[in-house]
Amino acid sequence: MGMQDGNALAGPLSEVFAVDVTAAQRLCPGCGTDSAVGALHVYRMATAAVARCPVCGEIAFRIARHAGALWLDFGGGGALRIPVG
Ligand SMILES: [Zn+2]
Repeated sequence: MGMQDGNALAGPLSEVFAVDVTAAQRLCPGCGTDSAVGALHVYRMATAAVARCPVCGEIAFRIARHAGALWLDFGGGGALRIPVG
């Protein structure tokens, strides 16, 4: 499973958000790094991806497509199940 940057998620995220989320900033609770979503390290699988902090590797969020929905999982913050066509 090779690493890509967060820009690899521009397609799936554009199905859910009307703005380009790769430009959004994320404050990492693990190390305090403030980085753009586009700078996160992304590990993709067949229908899912994990985005990690580029400094400490903590999971920022998981995104997965399953049964007609896009799941956006923030770990302890819960998950969003968003119906997609
Ligand atoms: Zn971090």
